[in-house]
Amino acid sequence: MASWACGIDGCEAVFDAPEPLILHQTTEHERCTCAVCETVVPDGYFAIRHAFEEHSRAEYVRAYGASAAEVREREQAKDYIEAAADLTLVLERLERGGSEG
Ligand SMILES: [Zn+2]
Ligand SMILES: [Zn+2]
Repeated sequence: MASWACGIDGCEAVFDAPEPLILHQTTEHERCTCAVCETVVPDGYFAIRHAFEEHSRAEYVRAYGASAAEVREREQAKDYIEAAADLTLVLERLERGGSEG
């Protein structure tokens, strides 16, 4: 079975599906501020998605001081989650305001 590790700030939470991982990252961790545009976004997947969909790779590298390898790693994590996760389900859960159920 695939395991999905959180990894934010050394968080060791592991889930057996991507949806609970994203819910955990979004609800259990503090929100972070985008270093490019100062929008407050949930940490984890949504922070990565914001960075790559709203900003160019060059802006991201400049604002975060990330290396090309780090950028690639985060893009891969995003693609991997998007290929496996039912994001509609995640957004519905978030709209209902909890991680229960
Ligand atoms: Zn975590
Ligand atoms: Zn931004």
